[in-house]
Amino acid sequence: MALALLGAAACSGGEPPAASSSRVQVAAAFYPLAWVAERVGGGNADVIDLTPQGAEPHDVELTSDQVVAVTQADVMFYLGGGFQPAVEELASGMGEGAVDVLGSEGVEFVGEDPHVWLDPLRMLGIVEVVAGRLAALDQGRAAAYKTKAASLTRELEALDADFRAVLGHCEQRELVTSHEAFGYLAESYGLVQVGIAGIDSAAEPSPQRLAEVARFVDEHDVATVFFERLLSPRIAQTIAEETGAATAVLDPLESRPQAGDYTAAMRLNLVALEEGLGCR
Ligand SMILES: [Zn+2]
Repeated sequence: MALALLGAAACSGGEPPAASSSRVQVAAAFYPLAWVAERVGGGNADVIDLTPQGAEPHDVELTSDQVVAVTQADVMFYLGGGFQPAVEELASGMGEGAVDVLGSEGVEFVGEDPHVWLDPLRMLGIVEVVAGRLAALDQGRAAAYKTKAASLTRELEALDADFRAVLGHCEQRELVTSHEAFGYLAESYGLVQVGIAGIDSAAEPSPQRLAEVARFVDEHDVATVFFERLLSPRIAQTIAEETGAATAVLDPLESRPQAGDYTAAMRLNLVALEEGLGCR
């Protein structure tokens, strides 16, 4: 069945197959992109998220069913830069049907850090890219996509304003995290990120790195070490125990949150940062 579908899509020369509904078929490589597509698409787009809830998106593997679904979609949104090589490889055969949002206008990419979605201002650039492509694919509903994008833009601008207001007055500016997901967020709001593991959450930190971070926590009197739900808290806890720091959870939003959405999870992150960094 799957092979037959794949064959049919291939024979149509990359044109989207006739959909059973008139909704735009969207594939998104992981949650933040799926969320933007769902919000901007409203009831006019069917969105599939290639990173299952609770899974790590770094180096995600795709099932054959997912590959088929992407082949049949009108568009796939993904992040390049080596974040998800299996997705990038699929994208390389899709021509203009695959949209790399990384590095598009407003989504500046620095070094090798893919975590642009944790900066609400860069999310505004992602909204523009997604809305522009949906409007181009489905011109009859271009006005509807524009309206939804404007509403999402206001929501993200409000989020940015609140981050700016709260994080402008903190006792501590050192943000110690389990992996380096929060670099853009730190840069936007004047914090200094110290990641225990590097940019790729799959990489285990060395004993030397753990000792280095523990020393940093001691020397800077860091009160809170942040960890993530998808990663084992063990590493952050080891450093917290050694140094007497507390631990708290930050959600890097690398897969769909268990409750609420991007904005709700970012607001929980802001509460955790406010407490952990002593912002008043
Ligand atoms: Zn990450």
